[in-house]
Amino acid sequence: MAPQIGTFDIAIAGGGPAGSVAAVLLARAGFRVALATLPPRGPRYEGMSARVAAILAQHHLPLAGIGPAAQRHVSWGAFQGGQNSEHLADRSAFDTGLLEAARAEGVSVIYASVSSVRPEAGEICMADGNCLSARLLFEARGRRAPRQSSDLNRDELAGPDTISVAGFAPPQAGDMETPRIEARPDGWVWSVPVDRGCLWLQAVGAAASLGRTNGKAAVAELWHSVLGKTALPRRPVVHAIAPRLTAPDLDPRCPRLGDAAVALDPLSGHGMFWAVSSALMAVPVARALLAGEADLARDFYRNRVAETFWRQARVGRDFYREAGFQTPFWQQRAAWPDEAPTHDTDIRPHTAMRVVVQDGYLARREVLITRDAPGGAAFAAGQEIVPLLRRLNGQALPQADRFHSAVLPEAPPQAARAIHQWLLSQGFTEGAQIPWDTANRETEPCNYDPAA
Ligand SMILES: Cc1cc2nc3c(=O)[nH]c(=O)nc-3n(C[C@H](O)[C@H](O)[C@H](O)COP(=O)(O)OP(=O)(O)OC[C@H]3O[C@@H](n4cnc5c(N)ncnc54)[C@H](O)[C@@H]3O)c2cc1C
Repeated sequence: MAPQIGTFDIAIAGGGPAGSVAAVLLARAGFRVALATLPPRGPRYEGMSARVAAILAQHHLPLAGIGPAAQRHVSWGAFQGGQNSEHLADRSAFDTGLLEAARAEGVSVIYASVSSVRPEAGEICMADGNCLSARLLFEARGRRAPRQSSDLNRDELAGPDTISVAGFAPPQAGDMETPRIEARPDGWVWSVPVDRGCLWLQAVGAAASLGRTNGKAAVAELWHSVLGKTALPRRPVVHAIAPRLTAPDLDPRCPRLGDAAVALDPLSGHGMFWAVSSALMAVPVARALLAGEADLARDFYRNRVAETFWRQARVGRDFYREAGFQTPFWQQRAAWPDEAPTHDTDIRPHTAMRVVVQDGYLARREVLITRDAPGGAAFAAGQEIVPLLRRLNGQALPQADRFHSAVLPEAPPQAARAIHQWLLSQGFTEGAQIPWDTANRETEPCNYDPAA
C-alpha cells in the first residue's frame, strides 16, 4: 500500500484558479481539504474580465498580480478601435496568491507532481510515492489532466488544433499603451505592455504551421507564419489551446473543475471565468455527492459543462467569422463546431426542471427559460421566479408599484422592483400578458418524477 500523507474529506489535484478557489471555498464550508499541485512556473500573462475580478472580490479572494482595467484595442476585420476592457493578469502572482489564501484557510497545500488520480481508491498519488486519501476527489489539473479512459469519454469533442506561442518582446514589437488583439491572415495576436518596459506578445496559429521541423525551429515557424519578421522571444511559452469538452459526464467519485472539464479557446476570454465559476460549484456538488445524491450532482454538472462548451464554441466561431479572412486558419475555425446560432432567438419563455444551487445546496427546481437565460433562471433578487409568475395567473404584468402591492406584497419594495426590472429585461412588457408556457415543454434526461 502507498504511504499516506493524510486522510481528508476532499483532495484536489491541481492548484490553478479552479483547484485553489475550490479548495478555499470547501475549507470555508467546513471540509478538511488537501490540494496537491506543481507550483506556478515562469512568467505568463492573460487578460482577466471585470466580472471574474468582481466574483473573486465578492468571495474575499486575493487579486494578486491583477492590474487595473485597461481598454483593449481591437483590429479584427472591419472592426478597428477600442472595445471592452480587461485586467492584465500576471498568472504566476495570481495563482500564488490563491494558493496562499487556501493555506490560510487551513487547506493542506502540497507542492508535488501528481502521478495518478485514482477515484476507485479515493487517492491522489504523487511522483514521490506518497498518496493523499479522501472521501471525495476533484480533478483540476487543467489541460494536463488525463483524458478519461472509461466509457465516460465517449462524447469528448475538440475544436481545430491550435497553438499559442508567447513571450517577452521588446517595445518596438508593438503598442506600449494598451492591450491589442489583432487578426492576421494565418492567426491572431494578443499583445500587452507589462512592467519593465516590455511587451508580452502572444501569437496563435494552426498546429499545422508548426511544420515538419522539431522543437524550437517548429515553434519559430509558427511564430513567423503569424507575426512575420518579429523576433521569436528567447524563452517562448508554448501551449496547445484547442477548445475541448473533455469530461461531459460527471464521475461521482472525482468531479472535474475548470479546464480539466471544458477547456475553451483563449480568444473567448472566458477561460478564467469558467475556472472560477466551476470552482463555485464545488461546495454544492461535494455536499450532494457526500450525501449520496449523485443524480443531482450529475444533472447539474452535465448541464453546466455542455452549455458552457457549446455556447463558447459558437461565440468563438462567430468571432472567427467576423475577421473576414479566407485563409485555411480562419475557414476551419469559422466552420466549427456547427451552424447553430449562438443565441437562440426562437426561445419562447417556458418552464423546465433543472438542478440549481439554493443556499449552498443542489436542488431540483422549476426554472424559467428565456432567450436571455437559455440555461434557465430559478431566482431573481432572492425570489423563486416560477411560483411568482404563477401568482400572476395569466394576468397582465402590472407596472412596478402595483407589481409590489398585488403580486409580491411580502417582499421589500427594492426586491419587488428588482424582480420587476428583471422581468422587463427578459422581454416581458408591462400591461401585456406574460407569454409563457406553464407546461414543462422539456423532458430532462434524468430521473425526476413530477408525481413523486
Ligand atoms: C495561452 C493561453 C492564453 C489564455 N488566455 C486567457 C485569457 O486571456 N483570459 C482567460 O480568461 N483565459 C485565458 N486562458 C485560459 C485560462 O488560462 C484557463 O482557462 C484557466 O487557467 C483554467 O484554470 P484551471 O485551474 O482549470 O487550470 P490551470 O490554470 O491550467 O491550472 C492547472 C494546475 O494544475 C497543475 N498541474 C498540472 N498537472 C499537474 C501534475 N501532474 N501534478 C501537479 N500539478 C499539476 C498546474 O501546475 C496548474 O497549477 C488562456 C489559456 C492559455 C493556454
